[in-house]
Amino acid sequence: MTSLSEKVFKAGVVGAGGAGFPAHVKANSKVEFVLANGAECEPLIHKDYELMLHFPEEIIRGFNLLIESTSAKKGYFGIKEKNVKVISAISKHLNGKSELTKLGDFYPSGDEFELVYEATGRLIPPAGIPLDIGCVVNNVETLYNTTLSENDIPVTKKFICVAGAVKTPSSFFVPVGTSFKDAINFAGGSKEKEFGVFIGGVMMGKLTFDLDDVITKTTAGLIILPKDHYLIKRKNQPEQNWHRIGKSACDQCSYCTEFCPRYLLGYQIEPHKVMRSLGFTKTGASVWNQMAELCCSCGLCTLYACPEDLYPKEACDKAKVEMKEAGIKFIQRKPVKVHPIKDGRRVPLKQLIMKLKLQKYDVEAPFNPKEIKVESVQIPLLQHIGNPSTPIVKKGEVVKEEQVIAEVVEGILGANVHASIKGKVTNITDKFITIET
Ligand code: SF4
Ligand code: SF4
Repeated sequence: MTSLSEKVFKAGVVGAGGAGFPAHVKANSKVEFVLANGAECEPLIHKDYELMLHFPEEIIRGFNLLIESTSAKKGYFGIKEKNVKVISAISKHLNGKSELTKLGDFYPSGDEFELVYEATGRLIPPAGIPLDIGCVVNNVETLYNTTLSENDIPVTKKFICVAGAVKTPSSFFVPVGTSFKDAINFAGGSKEKEFGVFIGGVMMGKLTFDLDDVITKTTAGLIILPKDHYLIKRKNQPEQNWHRIGKSACDQCSYCTEFCPRYLLGYQIEPHKVMRSLGFTKTGASVWNQMAELCCSCGLCTLYACPEDLYPKEACDKAKVEMKEAGIKFIQRKPVKVHPIKDGRRVPLKQLIMKLKLQKYDVEAPFNPKEIKVESVQIPLLQHIGNPSTPIVKKGEVVKEEQVIAEVVEGILGANVHASIKGKVTNITDKFITIET
């Protein structure tokens, strides 16, 4: 009999929450606890909420399959306490082996380290992964895809939320490789003439103005904002400006560190010290840079904590790159100990939304079950952690929907890629395969 891990592998399931870790690896592990992550804390993104509301049975089926395949003794399903309708939909299907972990409406309650701690009371070792303490964590859409894989249905569709300055903020399925332009038009189109798109969210996502960019297996959603919005102005600065301003204006108040969720959990991450590396390039950068290693790039320090609108998160990103180049690996020697003030310093989502000037866009994004029609898709060969998949189709070939078009190189971490629409392969590069109807 084919194992769950093999089915998940064949179907090309990867973590849909953003990282894109190939899901078969988790399905093949042995752990004590399986955690479902339905926390969804990026402002304005509501797609996990809608998926849980409309497909609770499929999600719980995937959750139970994973509990079984990993021989876990218990499952924890993380959902925000405020999402009463979803709690009711999910609880109906939970069996005696699992329980709900009700989470507060804080950012970033969906961070793996936070969720594991809230549910199990365990702390992931510094620079470690949940597996190190007997846990696996899966986003709810990954669990949904796991259920489909049981019936040999591969990942060809992505559930996304399109919100912000669009006419109809909504959540819906799109074929993998759909352009942003098609997805935004399906949500009624932009309300703004000139706008930018945050891919995956405003806190952790990237900003783009390229509407030919495409939805991958890990895109949670698109947030459209007018070009003169505060967030676009902040993100759209050249990188050297972030660091030049930080170098002259940081007064070392350390608010960035005091609000850092990882610091409050007990990890040695201190962005205010990383900021020092901008000013002391020749004397202490390698020392200060190490205080960035355990940063999860949640963005809270830059977009919420810093009273001077500086860029400590970006300084941490830069520090991580420099450390890698220098071959320095920071090892936390102090034991991980939760800060006594942690609960009092959590950042309510409503407050974050106010600070980000997003109140007028903070609306529901209901599920639209209609099927989107697209004329072409551009399917990336790398939508996951690991190596790009290798095309196994040729230009000019006609492919069926769900047909494998690129495979994992044997023995290397990766995920299969399938045709998300039927049509003709019109282009193949080392980055993507284009299919036109
Ligand atoms: S909060 Fe801003 S000003 Fe204060 S230490 Fe951090 S980066 Fe510097
Ligand atoms: S982005 Fe800032 S607040 Fe978030 S983990 Fe990194 S240093 Fe901490």
